[in-house]
Amino acid sequence: MNIDLTAVLTHMDEHFDVECQLDMDVFQLGTEAYPILNKKPFTLNLSNVMGQKLLICGKTDVTLTVPCDRCLEDVEITLPLTIDYEFQIRQEQIVPDADEEYSFFTEDYRELQPDEMIHDEILVNWPDKVLCRENCKGICPVCGQNLNKKDCGCDRVVLDPRMAKFQDIFNEFKEV
Ligand SMILES: [Zn+2]
Ligand SMILES: [Zn+2]
Repeated sequence: MNIDLTAVLTHMDEHFDVECQLDMDVFQLGTEAYPILNKKPFTLNLSNVMGQKLLICGKTDVTLTVPCDRCLEDVEITLPLTIDYEFQIRQEQIVPDADEEYSFFTEDYRELQPDEMIHDEILVNWPDKVLCRENCKGICPVCGQNLNKKDCGCDRVVLDPRMAKFQDIFNEFKEV
């Protein structure tokens, strides 16, 4: 669903609340696709300020399924998203930003694409680390067993001689 911006661009000092519903079912990040679990409608507030500025504001949250970084089990994460943009208007048209290209407008800057906007917000809020639990034990590098479920009993203590050397250097460094 696209939002036609004509009304807000042509009506000085008017505010519009637009109900948005996401079309996308997955969040695509490179070659990965993460399912979106909730798609509740949210409101975008569009304001024309003195025919000079267009303000776009809104708040929502999105819940996605993402694999745990360590054990790869699915984890549900909820990202609170805050939309807050300001654009210049001249002669009832958005002035494209010289430094930044916004993917959520159509090419002629007359329509807004909420899916693209939410995609960008998810990207900005993407967590550095996703863990199913604080002390997730991960998977066994030898046999692939999920170690949260059971211990496979593999011998996983492989001391790489090169790593041992680094450890020595690190310890010396600490003592200085
Ligand atoms: Zn895990
Ligand atoms: Zn194992």
